[in-house]
Amino acid sequence: MTYQLPTEEQRLAVESFRKFLNAEIKPIAREYADRFIPKEKMREITQAIAEFGMPGAAVPVEHGGLGLGYVTQGMLFEELVTVSVDIGLCVMINNGAAEFLVDAPAHLREKYLPGLLAGKIFGSFGISEPDVGSNVIDIKTRGVRDGDHFIINGEKTWISNGHYSDYIICTTRTGDRELSHILIDREEHGYESRNIEKIAMNSQSTAQIFITDARVPVANVIGQEGAALKNTMKVFEKARAHVGMLSVGLMRAAVEETIAYVTDRKQFGKPIAAHQLVSAKLAEMATLTDASRLMCFRALSLIDAGVRCDLQSSMAKWFATEMGVKVCRDAVQLHGGNGLTKAFQVERLAREAIVIPIPDGTTEIQKLVIGRGLTGISAIV
Ligand SMILES: Cc1cc2nc3c(=O)[nH]c(=O)nc-3n(C[C@H](O)[C@H](O)[C@H](O)COP(=O)(O)OP(=O)(O)OC[C@H]3O[C@@H](n4cnc5c(N)ncnc54)[C@H](O)[C@@H]3O)c2cc1C
Repeated sequence: MTYQLPTEEQRLAVESFRKFLNAEIKPIAREYADRFIPKEKMREITQAIAEFGMPGAAVPVEHGGLGLGYVTQGMLFEELVTVSVDIGLCVMINNGAAEFLVDAPAHLREKYLPGLLAGKIFGSFGISEPDVGSNVIDIKTRGVRDGDHFIINGEKTWISNGHYSDYIICTTRTGDRELSHILIDREEHGYESRNIEKIAMNSQSTAQIFITDARVPVANVIGQEGAALKNTMKVFEKARAHVGMLSVGLMRAAVEETIAYVTDRKQFGKPIAAHQLVSAKLAEMATLTDASRLMCFRALSLIDAGVRCDLQSSMAKWFATEMGVKVCRDAVQLHGGNGLTKAFQVERLAREAIVIPIPDGTTEIQKLVIGRGLTGISAIV
């Protein structure tokens, strides 16, 4: 793979988005740091961001998107996550939800896609359950056929956008060995949600979802009935490159904060940046950030080219998210005692970085996917 410079169009789009984010979104992100952004406020934010092309950058023009592809979307996304990983995760899920609807039956696409593209409604993906994390195959949420409906019962957990969500793409057991993706509408079919407090990233929603006797038409199955496991791998391929980008944004913010600090803070009569070990640590942080970014963009380029890239996407996810933990922790170290206080951003960045190696397959699972890709032998189960 070669490195491609951004086009003039991409550069201008990124620049105007960055200006908007710094002026409009950064103050909100700071105001709500570690506090939950209520749905109405988050909707204002997603509607404003929709003007700049997310969700929709990677959605084909014939379906109301911009058709710009995943690399351009990735460039915009990096700007957003550098300002707020919370809002970034919320938008990332809506991006994925919009892209997922492209292949949905027309009646679902027409009902939900325009609202998503306008930033007015929130989608979510429900795979994980209290007893089902890495072992997706064991999903217990069950849909029992009743004429042309499924009666669905189950509990999902860790669902991003869960508390905001207007609908959930629920991975549901529809046969002994079959899993299907079924769209459940909160108002029409009913489900409850409860937010989960975490070590960080509490400005967006991670929620439990409770589904009790939801009567959902068979027509709400997305993709072939029973084909959810195969389709989930396709979703993961895109999602993992984007989750890697969440950490790229955190690392970029950590490097920027650290450059400002080490050039300002003086010890032994000179800026700490003039001490060789400080300079070397900063160099490592910037290099690891760049390597992570390049790996994520390689995966996004392959997706744009229509080439399957589970392996490259898993490599990007584990590397970027683990380097995110290291780089943000190093940023705290270079801030000394100040880095542990709420007065500096790096304390929050370090807590946020710890979250990201877990969703969309843990680091261990990514390595097992890579191993399977290299040898053809699965060591996962
Ligand atoms: C912020 C956040 C957002 C999330 N968003 C969503 C969402 O929108 N939708 C959704 O469905 N889920 C979501 N998740 C859930 C996430 O996908 C799961 O947490 C993840 O898959 C891990 O599952 P688990 O937490 O049950 O851990 P477990 O699967 O119980 O794993 C625990 C530990 O065991 C290790 N482990 C498990 N199996 C193996 C193995 N075979 N070999 C080696 N090690 C193994 C894991 O790597 C991990 O270290 C989210 C999670 C977080 C934290």
